[in-house]
Amino acid sequence: GAQATEVDTVVIGSGPGGYVAAIRAAELGQKVTLIERDKIGGVCLNIGCIPSKALINVGHHVRESRASNPFGLTMGESSLDWQKTQDWKQNGVVNHLTGGVASLLKKHKVDVIKGDASFVDNETVNVVQEDGHQLLQFNNVIIATGSHPFVIPTMPLSKRIVDSTGALSLPEIPKKLVIIGGGVIGFELGGAYANMGSQVTVIEGTDHILNGFDKEMVAPVLADFKAHGGEVITNASAKQASQTDDDVTLEYEVDGKTQTVTGDYLLVAVGRRPNTDQLGLNNTDIKLTDRGLIEVDDQLKTSVAHVYAIGDITPGPQLAHKASFQAKIAAAAIAGQADAHDLHYALPAVAYTQYELATVGETPDSVKANNLDANIVKFPWAANGRALSMDATTGFIRLIQDKQTKALIGGQIVGANASDLISELSLAIENGLTTEDIALTIHPHPTLGEAIMDAAELADGVPIHV
Ligand code: FAD
Repeated sequence: GAQATEVDTVVIGSGPGGYVAAIRAAELGQKVTLIERDKIGGVCLNIGCIPSKALINVGHHVRESRASNPFGLTMGESSLDWQKTQDWKQNGVVNHLTGGVASLLKKHKVDVIKGDASFVDNETVNVVQEDGHQLLQFNNVIIATGSHPFVIPTMPLSKRIVDSTGALSLPEIPKKLVIIGGGVIGFELGGAYANMGSQVTVIEGTDHILNGFDKEMVAPVLADFKAHGGEVITNASAKQASQTDDDVTLEYEVDGKTQTVTGDYLLVAVGRRPNTDQLGLNNTDIKLTDRGLIEVDDQLKTSVAHVYAIGDITPGPQLAHKASFQAKIAAAAIAGQADAHDLHYALPAVAYTQYELATVGETPDSVKANNLDANIVKFPWAANGRALSMDATTGFIRLIQDKQTKALIGGQIVGANASDLISELSLAIENGLTTEDIALTIHPHPTLGEAIMDAAELADGVPIHV
């Protein structure tokens, strides 16, 4: 067969797992070859985290321009130039960011190959390129091939039936958007379009939307969604869709009864599948779990020496910051460092819904399930001066304290800026800080962050503001 080129460290995929792994491995002295079949930046930068947050931001602005407020501001009629929104999202945000990543890779002398990689054996990948193919024999490889949306077989994608990728680039703002799946992706995009004026119906199979966040956290999001014309139908099973050129009708079943709902677009957001099936893994000894994920240890090593796996193809939540965190550990392991992760602990998760939801560490449910001796306190935004002055009093901060050690072991935040505020709780948990450590840290006034100090004092039994 063809002669294989010998290379040092190969990274397959350039998402938040792969590009971070490539840069860190280069920083730690490896000669890195990065293989990407599509666009630098992966799902997250191109068709995931970043463009969705751009549209969510636009949704907030549109809503604000049209909603009444308690401080006496009336705005003129607002209108949204959707083409401009799309151009900004693509050129001003996504391309700007992915271009930045490409130049970082260059700066670190990472060799980027555009091609589709698959394993020939435990030490070799074949890379299919536009003009042929090449074999690379590596010293180490980090697999970071990510995931793709699950397509319901009876509802193939079309002009009217879209996945999250299609939903980010619709030709117009839907008049009526139907969403199958009340998870984070469905609810984030549904919320954004609701804020831009779409009438949104969410069809969810279980009895709980935004799984991963408890009912108390989700309640204000749900109430707000309904108050703005949104409809959520739980315990509903989607059956089939029929479409015309202008609309799509979904048939679903609730309580044994068949119902229908019609919209101009149907977004299918029912989960993502790992990109492991076309990687030639059967030519290797790399072990998969029964869900098709790659088994890894706490250094992201697979069952084959010198083969690492990170990101959405590994067990655990599908989150960009998980992928990047694992990337750094895998790169360090290749460099012979002893870093290992304890991912199950301080791994935050965020939903960018109307009221942001953020959680890290233990939850009331996990406290109960594991019989932990914990103290759970809740501090409301209504007791925080900054929140009041921002007209953002919905939601709360919840802290979970180990009763014996007084260490913070978990926390949840619902409301404005929860996505940014959660990092203080992660820092505390990751470093074993007690609630007293937090309370004794001076927080500037007036800030939302102050409420974390207040909540810590509440946990210590010496609250000032409640
Ligand atoms: P990916 O980002 O999926 O990248 C994998 C890359 O590998 C791709 O570029 C792919 O083309 C390439 N590839 C695959 N197979 C091959 C091959 N054989 N050869 C060469 N290249 C290959 N996560 C968050 O943490 N926060 C969010 O706010 C958030 N929002 C999201 C919103 C949406 C709409 C979606 C869809 C996802 C969102 N996510 C979010 C999830 C996040 O995007 C993923 O967890 C993250 O992208 C996973 O990173 P990764 O590096 O594992 O893989």
